[in-house]
Amino acid sequence: MKNFNSLIEIQALIFENKITCETLIDYYLKRINKTKNLNVFIEVFSKEAKIRAKEIDKKIKRGSSGKLAGLVVAIKDNICFKNHKLSAGSKILNGFTSLFNATAVERLLNEDAIIIGRVNCDEFAMGSSNENSIYGPSKNPHNLKKVPGGSSGGSAAAVAADLCQIALGSDTGGSVRQPASFCGVFGLKPTYARISRYGLIAYASSFDQIGPIGKSVYDISIVTEIISGKDNMDSTSSSLKIDKYSTYKPQRKKLKIAFFEDYLNNLSLNTEIKSNFFELISKLKKDGHTVSSEIFPYSDIIVPCYYILTTAEASSNLSRYDGVNYGYRSSSSKDINSTFKNSRTEGFGEEVKRRIMLGTFVLSSGYYDAYYGKAQKIRRLIQNKTNEIFKNYDYLLMPTTPNTAFDIGIKHDDPTINFLQDIYTVHSNLTGHPAISIPIWKSKDNMPMGLQIMTSNFNEKNLFSFSEFLMKFKH
Ligand code: GLN
Repeated sequence: MKNFNSLIEIQALIFENKITCETLIDYYLKRINKTKNLNVFIEVFSKEAKIRAKEIDKKIKRGSSGKLAGLVVAIKDNICFKNHKLSAGSKILNGFTSLFNATAVERLLNEDAIIIGRVNCDEFAMGSSNENSIYGPSKNPHNLKKVPGGSSGGSAAAVAADLCQIALGSDTGGSVRQPASFCGVFGLKPTYARISRYGLIAYASSFDQIGPIGKSVYDISIVTEIISGKDNMDSTSSSLKIDKYSTYKPQRKKLKIAFFEDYLNNLSLNTEIKSNFFELISKLKKDGHTVSSEIFPYSDIIVPCYYILTTAEASSNLSRYDGVNYGYRSSSSKDINSTFKNSRTEGFGEEVKRRIMLGTFVLSSGYYDAYYGKAQKIRRLIQNKTNEIFKNYDYLLMPTTPNTAFDIGIKHDDPTINFLQDIYTVHSNLTGHPAISIPIWKSKDNMPMGLQIMTSNFNEKNLFSFSEFLMKFKH
């Protein structure tokens, strides 16, 4: 067995009777066993994955298998899988078992994908390094001293280490794209509302989207096609028709591409990433595309705006964890008030508590207008400006992250240093536009560096076409 680049290769071998789902599962289980040091899987569903593989092999023989037969998937520990444990990397969900499938999971299963396990993430998807997980950080398969990124760090590391073919993550401010960039794989944040959020543990509901992480554009496209679409369980999901994403072709026409000079002048941007970016711009120009620098007047306030709005939403969403209905309950509680207080104090980690407090503060009377209200207005300005860009341009390019994966264990006295790492990714969550990170570059010390492409709403198919085209500039 080898590290397959795409589901196309896997299915070709399956239908030529050269491999079976059963042998595939054995292969991944062995690899998972051998790479426990990566701390990627929180739970491996070995037994049931084997049983399901056998059933799907039978369906393949009968000619009645689904579109994803042969696809082995890992899911982030904040996506519900019926009758399986789920913790969002937190102590507060200790012992919790999901009673239903997330819609995305249900749709994968309906097409015969096999879910092999749940993978590590930052607590409640808050973080950029996976270090905020109760289980400790996953490691970056390219360098074990480095973080895999976050919050979907386990998902990206699982794909990069070939422990599955695809992983689902969630992206509120970059949590699919940033770890994809750090681990050298593809990661998509779809248009807001494209994929149902039903069964995704909420962080900031007007930002959250489930997104796939994979080894090829094709794999990302087919999974997006299957899991997208209207869902009555999520009233914000869009009823817009789903394109046949997986039939995308590499882009051929001459394009109009924009980038924001202000983003590239950011002082924290790694010089290698910057020079690779400008080298790509000149290659695209030589190739006959129009590439222009545009002014984006909000680059300084985009990160604060994101952190005000997401923490506000988080403080409301996370109020349901009270030690009463489910999950962890403090044993030192005497009455209802001390149950709430002690369970939440002991059950949540430091970063989550920081964000609940920040969010409660920006929503509190007297500060609401100054912070939350103002940030909402800024969000609208950012959306308007970005929509204007897409009236004139096909795509917007920027690095996915200002730096490559950093070392595990770096402690900052000031938490906003970590927040600033999200400068390029939070943009599309604030506006709702789709964005993908593609693994196009490697640094001198052999660490992956991703390029991010944004486009207009519900234009995922063209995003895939352009991604495939750009991969010819990979180096
Ligand atoms: N790093 C960002 C944060 O900590 C992104 C999180 C996410 O997308 N879930 O909020």
